[in-house]
Order: sequence, then structure tokens, then C-alpha cells
Amino acid sequence: MRKITIIGAGHAGLQLGIGLLGQGHEVTIVSNRSKEDIAQGKILSSQSMYNMAVALEREQGLLFWDEACPPLEGMHVRAGNAEAGVMVDFRTRMPAGQSVDQRLKIPRWMDEFERKGGTILISDVGIAEAEALAAQCDLLLVATGKGELGKFFERDDERCQYSAPQRLTALTYVHGMKPREDFGAFNINVNPGIGEFVHFPGLTLSGPCDIINLECILGGPMDRWTDVKTPEQHLALTLELIHEFFPWEAHRFTNVKLTDNNGILAGAVTPTVRKPVGTLPSGRSVLGIGDIHILNDPMTGQGSNNASKGATRLMKAITAHGNRPFDRDWMQEIAQDNWNNAQWSARLTNTMLNPPAYVLNILGACQGSPKLAQALAAGFNDPRTMADWYFDEQGAEHMIASCAEAPAAA
Ligand SMILES: Cc1cc2nc3c(=O)[nH]c(=O)nc-3n(C[C@H](O)[C@H](O)[C@H](O)COP(=O)(O)OP(=O)(O)OC[C@H]3O[C@@H](n4cnc5c(N)ncnc54)[C@H](O)[C@@H]3O)c2cc1C
Repeated sequence: MRKITIIGAGHAGLQLGIGLLGQGHEVTIVSNRSKEDIAQGKILSSQSMYNMAVALEREQGLLFWDEACPPLEGMHVRAGNAEAGVMVDFRTRMPAGQSVDQRLKIPRWMDEFERKGGTILISDVGIAEAEALAAQCDLLLVATGKGELGKFFERDDERCQYSAPQRLTALTYVHGMKPREDFGAFNINVNPGIGEFVHFPGLTLSGPCDIINLECILGGPMDRWTDVKTPEQHLALTLELIHEFFPWEAHRFTNVKLTDNNGILAGAVTPTVRKPVGTLPSGRSVLGIGDIHILNDPMTGQGSNNASKGATRLMKAITAHGNRPFDRDWMQEIAQDNWNNAQWSARLTNTMLNPPAYVLNILGACQGSPKLAQALAAGFNDPRTMADWYFDEQGAEHMIASCAEAPAAA
């Protein structure tokens, strides 16, 4: 049994912490927000989780919402603009995923962590506190997401594609949206040069809802959020932008209302890769996980999926390490393994933020090729499957040609 402390009770910290308790370790989580703070606060994410990551949570006994949460069963992609209308339109089924409001999920997981014997301390951790924590455990992990402590970890310039935010993301949870007639879909609408409108069903505090992500290119015509001060103004601008830039979707939004006044969020992240092995002033090493290592723009919905997959891999690696010290070399190995797996989510997201012409060709070709459309959806579920074909022109051409020849799987 090892003594492990995790700073941050978010997706990565809690899934890992609960898993480690199940494997017989002694685990403490120190976080700066209580269950009540989170449940009563603003939404944190749109947290669309695809099948692979959801299956890992289910395996750990952590999916308490299978009955209540509407499933995400496929993907529907459209690209166009107000003048020309929809120019690309394809849909494909996916193995089921789901999106459970983190205001529900995180407090429930905090309960579960304590029920399994873990200790939660509420405290805002700085470097001095991290030093004290590191001195009292075998392994200190930092899972503080976008919090200030992340700045302690050096930016990995070689692995970062951007040094500034690429989108302002406006997130809105609503009730009353007109349902689709086919399946619960991860809907992606692209208005080239303007932004994206991504929406899908989810579960929030007041029941099933729809979650809207408007991804507004900074400085572009959708970047109008500066004067928005109230929840009513937030919803009004959301609907205005849908009508103006994605009119083919507008008829589904005529009767929507906010799920609650905290069901809104607007902000921008700089997609960032950090060197996740840090050195405290004492010389002790700490390992950053989740968003600390790889922070993606929300557009393709990869961060929670990475948190889940990374937590599962790390849980196994910690137990497999036995009684050996969790030294810097071990942490570097873990960090490299996480990069080997999760880099493809960053590449997918960064490519979608500024898609080169060959990516637009892929999207166009999906319209006539169910097999290619399936491969694209499978790539959102597991971006590693895109390594050979989504990130260079030659690979894309080859993939388009090979999918055109073969019929889709049933
Ligand atoms: C608008 C938006 C939409 C998104 N949509 C999706 C999506 O659809 N699909 C998807 O997969 N991902 C999405 N993400 C990303 C996803 O939410 C994150 O990647 C995921 O929550 C990261 O998990 P984490 O554990 O690393 O950090 P978090 O879940 O953010 O947890 C960090 C925790 O650390 C605590 N903390 C912070 N600083 C300190 C400190 N100094 N001391 C103690 N505790 C501290 C925080 O209170 C928090 O509880 C979205 C993100 C945003 C912003």
C-alpha cells in the first residue's frame, strides 16, 4: 500500500483517487472547492465523453447516471454559411457516450471517494503547501486543471502549436430544444472563418438538457461577448449567433430557456502542453496530470476523455510499481506514456482550430463515404486512430481513396 496525495478534486484527480483506493492505497485529495461550492456554482465544462472513456468510468463503477443521462449515439457534421446554406452534411452512428454536468458528477464522486475511505481536505494549495504535502506521502500528484498552480509547470514549447487562445467559447445549458428524430448526436456545425457551433444532449441538475458550445474565432463576427453581463443576455446572444451564422439549426431553438442562471460560461483557453514533471524548492519531484499536462481548446471535447484515460493508465502504473520509489525517472516515463497516447487529441483539436485545405477535403469526402465518416467519429472517440491519416495531406488522400473503395461496416 502506498501513500498518495492528489491536489485537485476534478475529473482526473477523483477518477484516479477512487481507482487507487480500490487497489488498496491510502489516498488524500486536497482541493480548493467543496462539494457545495461546485454543485451551487457555474457550469465548468460541456464534458462530452465518448464511448472509450465512458467505458473506463463504467468499469470503475463510477457511472451513476446511465439511466438518467440521454446517450450520445452518433455524430452529425454540417459546414456552410448563411449565404450558401449547408455545403457539407453527413451523419454517422457511434458507440454510446454521454455528458453529465460536472456539477453533478464531481460532488457525487467526492462522496464516493470518501465512502471508499479516502480523505478530502479543502484548501487552496500553493507551493509552500505542496512542499508540506510532498514531505508526508510517497507520491504527490497535481491535478489542478486550469488553476494557477499549473503555472508552476514549464510550458513545453516544442509541443505547443499555439501561444494564444484561438476561440472564445460560450457555453450554455438549455431545456426545451426540439429533439432530433434519429439519434442523440454530437452535432458539429462549421462556418468557415467565423466559428463552430457544437451541441449535444446531456444531463444537468434539473434533468436532461442540451449543451451548446459556440466557438467564436477571436476578433471575428461571433466575438461579441464583451458587453454580456447577465444570464438573459448570454442566452439572447447565443440564439442571435445561431440564427445569424448557423440558420439551418435555428428552428430547433425557438423555445429554449436556460437550465438555471449558472448554466452559462464564457472564456478562452490557450491550448498548452506542459512539462508535467516539476521540482519543488526542496528538490522533491511532483507529477502533473489531466489538463496540467495537455490543455486543449474545448472544440473537439477531448479534455475529460483524456482525464479518464490518463487516470486509468496511471492507476495501473502506480500499482505495478510496487514498493519502489516514485522517482523522477518514473515520473518522466509516465509523462512520456501519457504524451504518446494523448498527443493525438491535441493534434486533432489544434488541426480543427485552423483546418488546412486537406482537412476540409476529408470533411467533404465524408459526405459520400459512410466508412470515412465512421473513421472520423472513431477518431473523436480515440484520436490515436487518426495518427496515419488526419495530420498530413498524403495520409488524408490515401485514406479518402481507400474508404471510397470499401463499403462501410454494418
Ligand atoms: C468550456 C469548456 C468546455 C469543455 N467541454 C469538454 C467536452 O465537451 N468534453 C471533454 O472531454 N472535455 C471538455 N472540456 C475539458 C474538461 O472539462 C477538462 O479537460 C477536464 O475537466 C480536466 O480535468 P482535470 O482533472 O485536469 O481538471 P479539473 O476537472 O478542472 O479539476 C481541477 C480541480 O482542481 C481544483 N484546484 C485548482 N487549483 C487548486 C489549488 N491551487 N489547490 C487546490 N485545488 C485546486 C479545482 O477546484 C478543480 O476541482 C471543456 C472545458 C471547458 C473550459
